[in-house]
Amino acid sequence: MPRDEEPAYPGGAGARPRDDLEPGHTYPELPERPSLGAYREAAAHCRACDLWKTGTQTVFGEGKREARVVFVGEQPGDQEDRAGRPFVGPAGRVLDEALAEAGIDRETVYVTNAVKHFKWRAAGKRRLHEKPNRREVAACRLWLDAELAILRPQVVVCLGATAAQALIAPAFRVTRERGKLIDSPLAPHVIATVHPSSILRAPEETREDEMRSFVADLKVVAKVIRSL
Ligand code: SF4
Repeated sequence: MPRDEEPAYPGGAGARPRDDLEPGHTYPELPERPSLGAYREAAAHCRACDLWKTGTQTVFGEGKREARVVFVGEQPGDQEDRAGRPFVGPAGRVLDEALAEAGIDRETVYVTNAVKHFKWRAAGKRRLHEKPNRREVAACRLWLDAELAILRPQVVVCLGATAAQALIAPAFRVTRERGKLIDSPLAPHVIATVHPSSILRAPEETREDEMRSFVADLKVVAKVIRSL
């Protein structure tokens, strides 16, 4: 059976649209033959929450179909919103650097976000990141479930609280549980760490330590990858 036709990851919801969207919010028609490309195309027309109105475009995940490791962040940032690609801005560069230090080949992983549109507020000419709310994360789960159902990764890495609380448990505390392997139906190996943007926001005097801790968490992932 081709991988695209195999069932959703165990315990996952698969790519099922929610039936409790707020009035006026709708999903586009979903592909009859699921594939990453077909879902990417469908997600471009998503109106399941208000974020499509202010985001430039849907930023779907990116990476090889054969990727065994999926990194899930919160949402695209300013540069990702303009480019239409995840993790290509400053946080993406921190991730690239940390992956290289941990010995993980960036070309072999799939990167995506819990929410596919950039949520922001204006501050003069700048667009400042705003945390997506619970309803937005829930509405967007369809696309993340679709990605996970198709990729069926061996390892899922949640980057930051939004992804970890959406995918692992609503009360999950990244500060307490980071870098530990967690039992989850999402994938055989699930782990959470901080979002790379938190390193950029850290005070200068602690930034190096924060980066070292981030790399240490990713080395746990690297070890799992080597064991596959
Ligand atoms: S953020 Fe997600 S649910 Fe909301 S419109 Fe964009 S793709 Fe749809």
